Amino acid sequence: MSDSHVCEDTSDHLFRQSITTLPRISDKRKKMFAKLGVETVGDLIWLMPRLYNDWSQRIPVGHLVGGDVAAFEAVIESVPSLTRRGKLSYIRARLSDDTGSIRAVWFNQPWLSDRLKRGDRYIFRGKIEGSGRACSVNTPEIRALDDESPMFTPVYPLTAGLSQATVRQAIEAAFSDRNLVITESLPAEIRSDYRLATADFALRKIHFPESEHDIEVARRRLAFEELFLLIAGLRYMKAGRREECGPNIELTQPVLKRLKSQIDRLPYSLTSSQESAIESILNDFRLTYPANRLIQGDVGSGKTVVAAMAMAVAAWSGFQSVMMAPTTILASQHAESVASILEGSGLSIALLTGGVTAARKRLLIDALAEGEIDILIGTHAVIEKDVQFAKLGCCVTDEQHRFGVRQRIKLSGDGDIIPHMLVMSATPIPRTLALILYGELDITEMKDMPSGRKDVKTYTATSRDRSRIDRLIERETNLGHQVFVVCPMIEESPELTINSAETVFDRLSRLVFPDRRVALMHGKLKVKEKSDVMREFDRGDIDILVSTTVIEVGIDQPNATLLIVENAERFGLSQLHQLRGRVGRSLIQSYCVLVSDSEDPLVRRRLTALCRNSSGFAIAEEDLLLRGPGDVFGVQQHGLPDFRVANLYEDSALLKEASNAAEQIVRVDPHLINHETRVILTEFKARYGDRLARPGL
Ligand code: ADP
Ligand code: MG
Repeated sequence: MSDSHVCEDTSDHLFRQSITTLPRISDKRKKMFAKLGVETVGDLIWLMPRLYNDWSQRIPVGHLVGGDVAAFEAVIESVPSLTRRGKLSYIRARLSDDTGSIRAVWFNQPWLSDRLKRGDRYIFRGKIEGSGRACSVNTPEIRALDDESPMFTPVYPLTAGLSQATVRQAIEAAFSDRNLVITESLPAEIRSDYRLATADFALRKIHFPESEHDIEVARRRLAFEELFLLIAGLRYMKAGRREECGPNIELTQPVLKRLKSQIDRLPYSLTSSQESAIESILNDFRLTYPANRLIQGDVGSGKTVVAAMAMAVAAWSGFQSVMMAPTTILASQHAESVASILEGSGLSIALLTGGVTAARKRLLIDALAEGEIDILIGTHAVIEKDVQFAKLGCCVTDEQHRFGVRQRIKLSGDGDIIPHMLVMSATPIPRTLALILYGELDITEMKDMPSGRKDVKTYTATSRDRSRIDRLIERETNLGHQVFVVCPMIEESPELTINSAETVFDRLSRLVFPDRRVALMHGKLKVKEKSDVMREFDRGDIDILVSTTVIEVGIDQPNATLLIVENAERFGLSQLHQLRGRVGRSLIQSYCVLVSDSEDPLVRRRLTALCRNSSGFAIAEEDLLLRGPGDVFGVQQHGLPDFRVANLYEDSALLKEASNAAEQIVRVDPHLINHETRVILTEFKARYGDRLARPGL
């Protein structure tokens, strides 16, 4: 955050200066503040209170409720008694008002015994414990009745050595500095249309509120600002694409005819979602500027064939394509699938991963530069380095790697031409989140699943069902089907009752199924070892594969019909859904058993939600409700920014407004060049530029 909130005109502006310009910030304190991400005065001003201590609501003593943190006005009824035990001490007193009385204990504050006198009246604030006569309050804070300090005191996040008082003093010092100028980042039009406070007002009130209303007004403005700046910036990026130069793929009638006959060769007919996804890609190809499209479809919805057909069309029109996968295993699987989908097309398809020999790699690179390879499939690492394309037209990637790929491809390619980008995602993100995560992309949703596909029958079980689960494994393997057993951890951990992959493997391979081929796979294996195991599983040489979540993404083995998840409570709802997508990939009935002994109602609700729903979109919505946005499909890893104020779940109404506002601005000023909108871009780059990792931004 250190160079955020740039003020354009005065670069020596206090906002950008180190907090050491403030009084009483030593180098030692500077280091502590740095741990909170606070380096400049601007960072300090954006250090948001975690909560507020409210002194305004005074509860009658007789109405205090155990468990609450409350403030109350009371008289000290008994002479406070001080007890010392070595270095430790405590003071006990009884406090009362007309409605009742409460015991108070102050630990290790012996000096209070001089200050507190019987008959004195104060405001106390602390955590209430117990109830009725046994009601007590532990080490409450004390305020005089005529104390004029604010009714709401902010509570900041701290780090070792920093106290609330130090942080508060620093913030007070920053705001009382006459050189502090807070730049307004929202256009006046937006502030008035959406009834938002100014930045200056909001930032002052968030630290020094006088009422709950102040906090509300300040929060709303600051959360809106965060959402608005991000969405407006993403829209700007989207608009900016129109000025870039795309590959200009000309779609001729013969090419379209070839596409049709290639589709006709498939052993199945396309779903209407697949058809319309291909249609939208063909429309993209007709553009003069590079497309940037997200194809979003649940696991098993058949995205590979869509990508393969797109790449074939590019090839027939004279352009190369590249498809990138996150792992070597997936890259080789993709290469095999694409090759089989495009069988008979005569196109040359190559696989390039870390596993190929240097000599072979050299050969591939040369062939690629000569334009002899139409479709290159590989992992990102390989493609980033020395690979040059003769004429790259289309780039297929997964969502985690969408950022920066365009630019890198551009740098390695010829001139300023940017290929069309297709981003594949199995993350059924609720609409509201898609705006934030994929705001710079055009989105195609694939809602239908291939027909004839049976829903995976999903059950919950506990460890008492062990023998029934074993019988299920036996039945499926007897039928020649394959089984996944997924465990949350590799090794046994002493303090948790977790069935580690090793223990489970041991039990199954030695005790239960000594005559079956059982294999173990986990993240600590070498890449080569992992792909060997996967290849064996692919060939059908493994009956039961015990693994950690490394199988999570993309593995496609139609013969796998049973998935057992051990300690299912350790997985998120959406993660379980992704795992479940590893089975049910053919016409054979598949099963998923979620084993968990947890009695936590939230866990039970999560697991039954999975038994009830087969659609990823339904599950994602449920996940958003149950766990909040940060957890939906590990959204964090997909580039969800760290907001300081906004909360995507709670602020979904605000998100809608911010999105409308962003639309309103970008519609008339797509390049954000007006006097008032330039700052939007500056702030967007400062706050989110790293995440989007685009040179030039
Ligand atoms: P995902 O969207 O998860 O990447 P895949 O592309 O791996 O899905 O497809 C899953 C499986 O469905 C593959 O085995 C594929 O051959 C099959 N498939 C794809 N499209 C269809 C279809 N229209 N009808 C029947 N099966 C299909
Ligand atoms: Mg896939």
